[in-house]
Amino acid sequence: MVRVRFAPSPTGFLHLGSARTALFNWLYARHTGGRFLLRVEDTDMARSEPRFLDEILRDLRWLGLDWDGEPIFQSRRFELYREKATALVSAGKAYKEGEAVIFRMEKGRTVEYIDRIHGRISVRTDDIKDQVLIKSDGSPSYNFACVVDDADLGITHILRGDDHISNTPKQILFYEALGLRPPEFGHMPLILGPDGAKLSKRHGGVSVEEYRRQGFLPEALVNHLILLGWSPGEEHEVLTLGEAVRLFDISQMGDVQARFDIQKLRHLNAEHILRKKTEELLPLIKPFLEEAGIRSGALDEAFLARLIDLYKIRIKTLREFVEKTDFFFRDDFSVEEEARKKYLSDPSSSGRLRVLADRLTELDRFSAPEIENVFRGLAEELGVKPAALIHPARLAVSGKTSGAGLFEMMELLGRDKVIERLRGRLP
Ligand code: GLU
Repeated sequence: MVRVRFAPSPTGFLHLGSARTALFNWLYARHTGGRFLLRVEDTDMARSEPRFLDEILRDLRWLGLDWDGEPIFQSRRFELYREKATALVSAGKAYKEGEAVIFRMEKGRTVEYIDRIHGRISVRTDDIKDQVLIKSDGSPSYNFACVVDDADLGITHILRGDDHISNTPKQILFYEALGLRPPEFGHMPLILGPDGAKLSKRHGGVSVEEYRRQGFLPEALVNHLILLGWSPGEEHEVLTLGEAVRLFDISQMGDVQARFDIQKLRHLNAEHILRKKTEELLPLIKPFLEEAGIRSGALDEAFLARLIDLYKIRIKTLREFVEKTDFFFRDDFSVEEEARKKYLSDPSSSGRLRVLADRLTELDRFSAPEIENVFRGLAEELGVKPAALIHPARLAVSGKTSGAGLFEMMELLGRDKVIERLRGRLP
């Protein structure tokens, strides 16, 4: 049975690279019906903090990943590491240096393994120095604790970032010294930005949390991370975690350039927003409204649902919903200044909008088709193109030059607001 693990160090937030590592191990376990374990590498007592672990676990759950059993904490297993290190000293494979235990590197050998992603890798032991197993403060080195635990937990495959590629030959030698068979290894390439530089803040963020705050759905982030390690084929570019579990094939994981591109993420996010039902989007959008100072609890759910229906095809992030619909919630909404000059400085245009307002006052039913009739009728009467009314009207009621269909938008906004704004109350 496949047994894999994710082994975060709780010394900071969940980086996208780590999220991808967790995701692929999880996918492999779920695809094969294996086990996915969580091991907390908290041996560095000074830098590890419970709040970081809480955040990492929260972010994993948000992404839709779950783990089997309780997390395993390395900080509770120092005894075991010491015991194994002592055995290596007794066998003459390690020596003590004060309180520390050091692994003796046998010279003149070659360590070789087949990396699932990079293929054959071989390293000469002449190029590796003696390795710390237990530090003088009694804590284990990363490499040693990792091997002791992976063996103890029966881990069969280790998928992790390329930053660990130089650790693997050392770990293989530890397995050998302990009389154990090493698992299979695969190292995934570092995540880069679209410009080929290491992923950084200026590419849009490096942590899972930053993307959540910007209004990306976990489905979209997971989707993009999947594409940074595996090619499910063009017809499966947009896929959910469930679909990925079904289709996943570890042999399709390639040594690809892993380029994270926020534009790509925006595109995927729009796709996943569209796949969601309005009732599913509603609770996801509310926190963004709250953050913008709109008390979503006080809003009518049916109204909000209709607004989401109007806008969900027009947004790429949940945050954008709030930006594009601010005029539904407040009178001091933002106004595109260029457009204000273009459409509303001309007195004939404000004159027309006032006539339009009068006509709309007279309507029996304030519904999209009837509003549209008024626009068309008035345009004909005045001998202007409907656009000459539509553009200034849109700007007057919404402050924007684009958005949902004007007539539907007006219907939902309600007659009073529309008329008030057409009569010239732009903020
Ligand atoms: N704690 C290590 C890290 O976060 C784990 C590496 C591994 O998977 O072996 O990079």
